[in-house]
Amino acid sequence: MLPGEEELDELYREVILEHYRSPRHKGELPEPTVTLERNNPVCGDVIRLHLLLDGERVKEASFTGQGCSISQASASMLMEAIQGASFQEIDALYTAFKALMYGAERPEAELGDLEALEGVKKFPVRVKCATLAWNILQEALEGHGGEKG
Ligand code: ZN
Repeated sequence: MLPGEEELDELYREVILEHYRSPRHKGELPEPTVTLERNNPVCGDVIRLHLLLDGERVKEASFTGQGCSISQASASMLMEAIQGASFQEIDALYTAFKALMYGAERPEAELGDLEALEGVKKFPVRVKCATLAWNILQEALEGHGGEKG
């Protein structure tokens, strides 16, 4: 173990637990453009996304559902990151997040709290938890002019 790695893991855990305990943008939207629910049968996570779109932009996004701390924290972080974002910005974010999850070289993109999920890549089963909300978002946007992930 590299010096400081233990502390880093501790910090990651704190950020993830904080989002899990106080999820951002959790709840339904009054008039969503798209609502899509998917689950992760391996872990039992269920997430439903509610998106209000304005052209090629996510005007407002929220989620409901339940599951493990990683799936719920990841959804909370994703919701926080995409409020008001264009499809193009979301695409760049998704590319950066996938690189973070699968250990590829990371492109320049601000991931903020999402970087706390980097530790998850050591556990391939949990990567499915972390990417669940992202995959739902991609699928939801595909039918509305969004690019395929
Ligand atoms: Zn899970």
